[in-house]
Order: sequence, then C-alpha cells, then structure tokens
Amino acid sequence: MERKNRRNPFLPAVMSILLLAGFGVVGFNAYHLYAETSTVKAHVKELQTDTAELQEQLKKAEEFSAAQDARIAELSAMERDLPAMRDNYYKACKELEDAVLAGTADCKIAYLTFDDGPYEATTGQYLDILDQYGVLATFFQLAKTSEADDQLYHRIYETGHTIANHTYSHQIKRIYSSVDAFISDVVRNREFIQEKLGITTNILRFPGGSSTARGLKDDIVAQLRELGYGYVDWNSATGDGVYHATPEEYRDNVLTATGGRSILVVLMHDYSGTTLAALPEIIEGLRAQGYVLLPLFYESTMVNK
Ligand SMILES: [Zn+2]
Repeated sequence: MERKNRRNPFLPAVMSILLLAGFGVVGFNAYHLYAETSTVKAHVKELQTDTAELQEQLKKAEEFSAAQDARIAELSAMERDLPAMRDNYYKACKELEDAVLAGTADCKIAYLTFDDGPYEATTGQYLDILDQYGVLATFFQLAKTSEADDQLYHRIYETGHTIANHTYSHQIKRIYSSVDAFISDVVRNREFIQEKLGITTNILRFPGGSSTARGLKDDIVAQLRELGYGYVDWNSATGDGVYHATPEEYRDNVLTATGGRSILVVLMHDYSGTTLAALPEIIEGLRAQGYVLLPLFYESTMVNK
C-alpha cells in the first residue's frame, strides 16, 4: 500500500519538462504561423497594388483601343464616301470644262497623263512631285504584278488620281492583229485593275495612240463603246516616248507648244527620268499660263465616246 501511494518523485519534473516542451512547440508554431500570415498579407497587399496598376493600364489600353476603333470607323466611312466624293469632284471638273469651252472661265485646263506604268524605280517620285504641287493626274496603266507595283496602283488611286486602261500587254504587233485581240487585251486589263482596286476603268489610251489601230479603229471603238469605254489621245507631249533630250527640251515641248489651246492633254511616260526632272517646271509653267491641272474623267470632252 505504502508503495502504491508513493509519488514518483520525478513526476513533477517530467511533467514540467513535458508542459514546457508542449508550450514551446505551440509557441513556436504560433509564431511561425504569425510570420507566415504577415508574409502572405504583405504579398496580398503587393498583389492588390499590382492589380490596381494593371487595372489602370487596362483602362488606358481600353481607352486607346476605343479611340483607335473610332478612328478606323471614321476612315472606313471616308473610304466608303470616296467614290461619291470622286463623282462630285468630276461633276465640278465637268462644269469647269464646260465653262472653259464656252469661254466663260478665266482659266484653261491641262490634263497631265502618264502612260505605261507603274514603274518601281520612278512612279513613286512622280507621285511625290504631284503631291507636292497638289496636282491630280491620269495614269494609263499596264498590268504589272510585283508587290511594289501593287503598292503603286493603290497609292495612285487612293491619292485621287485617275486610273485608266492602256491594255494588259502593250504588245503592239499582237494587239493590233485583230479587233478581238485588241479588245480581249483591254478586257483583261480591266479585270486586272478591277481585282486589284475594286474599280472599273472606263477610259482607254490606245498603245501608240488611236491612229495605230489604222483600219481596225472604227470597229474597236464601236466595241469599246459597248464595254462602256471612251478613249483619249493627246495634243501635247514631252516627247519622252519618242526621243531622248534634256529636261529643258521636254519642258519646252510642252510649254512653248500650248498654242493657247483651252484644253491640253499632255502625254508623258512615268518611266522617264528626264520627264521627271522636267515635271516641276512643266507644272509651274502651265499654271503660269493660266492652266488648271485636272485628272481625266469619263464625261470629259477629251474622252472620245
Ligand atoms: Zn504606251
């Protein structure tokens, strides 16, 4: 009995150690948890700051995107209106032409025309000069397929110049071998330009001029009329398609041979570096003589129909 009631003398010490150890573990765990929680909280705060920044950036991006969308919509509307704007412009040109022909206008008209392009090496420079002087002209185009040519077709049309047909191939011997050969080359180029720009050309210049068609001309013209085409020759030229000369000679060929005519159609070729050099003085000289420079349009009296 005595033995039974005898307390283990080590028990309190063991208990204390165990308790202390137990509290120690709990204390350690609690501290660890607290530290972890603080770290997590700090991360959350950081994330919230990041999120706020991201939201701010997102808001700015959305605002920018909305502004871009509005600009795109505006440009698309302008693009949609472009054909109508072009038509209105041609109507105004026609009124001016009528007034010039009636002798009631205080100006004359010159239609600058460029044949055989586009040319990668030079056409862009022609367009730069025309842009610089605010001149719209007419480009009688062949069918060319490089990417640079593609950009030129677009630039010519989209800056307001008139795109016209000069046949697909310009192969004189072949196209003037028969009426059908000629017409199919014209139609092929019409389709080429239609596909490229979504427009239907309705003005043609015969390669070499309409007289090159000789005996075929009347039949060709009748078929062109059925296709909705008119054709244009010229009454003024730099001479760049015929002979080499200096820019001054080319300039003078145009400026001294106007003969005071009320309406000029000036033939040039945008492959010519010489005409390119002469172009600024040709533009300035024609304007000094009272000419207004316009692009050709189907209803012009200079378009034979
Ligand atoms: Zn030509």
